[in-house]
Formats: sequence, C-alpha cells, structure tokens
Amino acid sequence: MTARDPRTDFADWLHGELVRECANEIEPWARDRIERVQRRLNAARSGEPALETTILWVAPPLAFTLAGKHVYISRTLLERLPSDDATAFVLAHEAAHHDLGHLDLYGSWANWLPRAQATGYIAALLGVIEHHRYGPEREAAADDYAVDLLLKAGFDGQRAVQALAILENLALDRGDVDGVFGPENLLDPTDPLRQSAAYHVQQWVWTHMHGYLPLHERAENARKRVNARGVQGAIA
Ligand SMILES: [Zn+2]
Repeated sequence: MTARDPRTDFADWLHGELVRECANEIEPWARDRIERVQRRLNAARSGEPALETTILWVAPPLAFTLAGKHVYISRTLLERLPSDDATAFVLAHEAAHHDLGHLDLYGSWANWLPRAQATGYIAALLGVIEHHRYGPEREAAADDYAVDLLLKAGFDGQRAVQALAILENLALDRGDVDGVFGPENLLDPTDPLRQSAAYHVQQWVWTHMHGYLPLHERAENARKRVNARGVQGAIA
C-alpha cells in the first residue's frame, strides 16, 4: 500500500470545495474552449497525469494549479482571453509548473491553510501564494515552456502571447502600475541598455518580492521566443 501524499489530499479536498462553491459554469463556449485547449495541450505534453481545468467564478483574474491533476482559471480571466491560442498560453504556463517539477515545492504550507467555508477567498489566496512560492526563475521557465508547448500543440504563437498583454491590462485596471513595468528605477532613462549593476540588483530584489518578472518583460520575452521558434521552423 502506498502512503497518500498529503499534498494530494489537500488538493483533492480543496477541489471538492471549489467545485461545490465556485464552479457552476453553464456557458457552452467557455466550457468548450477550456476542454478543447486542454485536450490539445495534454496530447502535446510528455508529463503525466493528463490535466483538467476547472473554471471558477471568483473575482480576481487568475489561474493556478495544485498538486495532482487540477488547474483552475477564473471566469474573469477566461472571458478576457480572445482566442483558443491566448487561453493555451495560460493553461500551458500552468502545465509547465507540473511538467517542470515545480509542484514539488508545494509543501507543508498548504496544511496550515484553514479549511474554511470561504473557499473563493482561499482560491484567490492560493493563486497569489503559489506564484510567489515558485519564484521568478521558475515563472520565467514556465513562460518559456508554455511557448514551446503551445507551438508544439499547433497554436498560433503571436496570438497566444497576447495573454500576457491582457494580463498587463488587467493589472493596470487594478492600478498595479508597478506590477507591469517594474519599479521606477528599472526604467532609468540614463541607463537605456539596462546594463548597470544597480539595474540588475534592483531587478533581482523586485522580482523576488513580486515573484514575477514585470509583466511587460514577460510579454517581451515570450514574443522573442515565439519569433525565434518561427525562424527555426518551429517544433523539435
Ligand atoms: Zn506561474
């Protein structure tokens, strides 16, 4: 008999709660889009198990994943994504956390989270904590992996990376200017090539506090990767 993984226990419990309280999606276009995109990504992945994405009716525009096979995307984010391709970027980024082994980091902190009735609140909290937990290097690796995976699955790379521009806009709507562009000093006009040690130190501090590269830089990196892949003739 194999011992049960406590992370999976927690993830299973939370999944039940989230479905009961926050997952009453009835619009066929939304369900169909998620199923269609997830199926194509799963077929192109080498990782196991096949992932399943659940649409949550929670307010913040977010996506996150837990140990096991579940990925979550909020309806508020999904309805802003204009295409299967942009949706593929978000789901492929979450798949990356599974396939690159980032979920191994997801440890005991889950156990002290209160198993409360306020499940939507917990979902929002997890979305934030998880991305901070992984750290900026893993987030950047997940973006790279996402681009490679979605191209392999036959999605349009240019349309896919629009997801990051949309996340930028959503962040700006919330007034999170810092989250998009990074701290003011990173845009120092006297250092246009961003080569100073100060720039790199501040970038390191900023990204480790935020858990992400600024969205603007993530979008730029993802576009570069799509273009590079295009030149090479796509998928290996
Ligand atoms: Zn992530």
